[in-house]
Amino acid sequence: MKFITDRMLGRLARWLRLFGYDTLEIKKQENEDDALLELAENEVRILVSRDRVLVRKAIKRGIRTYLVQSSGIMEQLKEMQGEFGISIEPQLDRCTLCNSVIRKVKSEEMELVSAKDYVYPDRLGEGTEFWLCDKCGQVYWQGKHWVNIMERAERLKK
Ligand SMILES: [Zn+2]
Repeated sequence: MKFITDRMLGRLARWLRLFGYDTLEIKKQENEDDALLELAENEVRILVSRDRVLVRKAIKRGIRTYLVQSSGIMEQLKEMQGEFGISIEPQLDRCTLCNSVIRKVKSEEMELVSAKDYVYPDRLGEGTEFWLCDKCGQVYWQGKHWVNIMERAERLKK
């Protein structure tokens, strides 16, 4: 199951990536709707949108689509669970920013991590595992942020 979202659903796109789903987000551009529909069609992606007009166009072209009702992220994720049965298991699999597959950083590559100003130096000595997106350079680890994510996921499963 692969998705593509409109620009109103950037947050939802990031959460879907966090659950391991290949999710594209259309960038601001001319003829945005056409570009989006073309991508959905060519890559067989499910269009997830809050835009009724766009959804109608997609259905006409035979693209599988879902019109999101809620504005809150937790409710949106519940909708996705109900509609597609998505699994609510956070994983370090995919870059939440750019959708590329991420990989574990090897011990000899730690300078890639220490070069990031958002990684505190004392993290590096703690044996923390890091993941890297080769495409955009984002570094991930299971810090405080990860605890919050896991808590949210638990709430969603109830
Ligand atoms: Zn990335």
